[in-house]
Amino acid sequence: MGYLIDYLKQDVRFEESLKACMNCGMCTAVCPAAEFYEYDPRRICDAVQRGDDDTLERLLKEDTIWYCGQCMSCKTRCPRGNVPGELISVLRRASQELGYFHQSEKGEQQKQLMKTLQGNILEIGYCVYPDRVDPDYHPEQGPVWQWYHRNIAAVAPKLGANYHGQGAGALRDIPQEDLDEVRRIFEVTGGMELKKKVCDE
Ligand code: SF4
Ligand code: SF4
Repeated sequence: MGYLIDYLKQDVRFEESLKACMNCGMCTAVCPAAEFYEYDPRRICDAVQRGDDDTLERLLKEDTIWYCGQCMSCKTRCPRGNVPGELISVLRRASQELGYFHQSEKGEQQKQLMKTLQGNILEIGYCVYPDRVDPDYHPEQGPVWQWYHRNIAAVAPKLGANYHGQGAGALRDIPQEDLDEVRRIFEVTGGMELKKKVCDE
């Protein structure tokens, strides 16, 4: 056991995510990400359970911890009550805090995602809002999105949305006092500090 396993154990989610793994592979068998990527939650649980610094440092620098889709199918099947998907979250957080994610292409991609999504949450209260998915920058969204984006003011009310309206409803504007509260939550829970560390380094 070493420094990194002690570091991981400081995360309150660790205890619930990995109690004792018997390497049965059930999590990998049900994991959708394992079907498409070089990704194996059983192997990750095993590596963390071993707990030696060299293995953990390699893991924190690898692309593999960024392949999990956080679907939590593994939680429902593990005979030991482990939650590999949650363990992945613990590893991702450590990789970001310790700067190991820079060594991974997928980790670097998450940096851009964090910058965009956290910026959106803090500025407008949504992870994703249609106005901010500009078809010129997202041609992969296709022609239907391009049309919707151009005509959203007319289309959204017909779909029952409260586009840029006050009060309740989807796509409503979030009041400034609520945005201030969200910002305080990020400040108190360390989200602002983590974003600064990840995005401004
Ligand atoms: S299902 Fe549970 S016990 Fe089996 S390998 Fe995965 S984490 Fe370990
Ligand atoms: S949460 Fe992650 S590890 Fe668990 S089944 Fe889903 S993709 Fe796989």
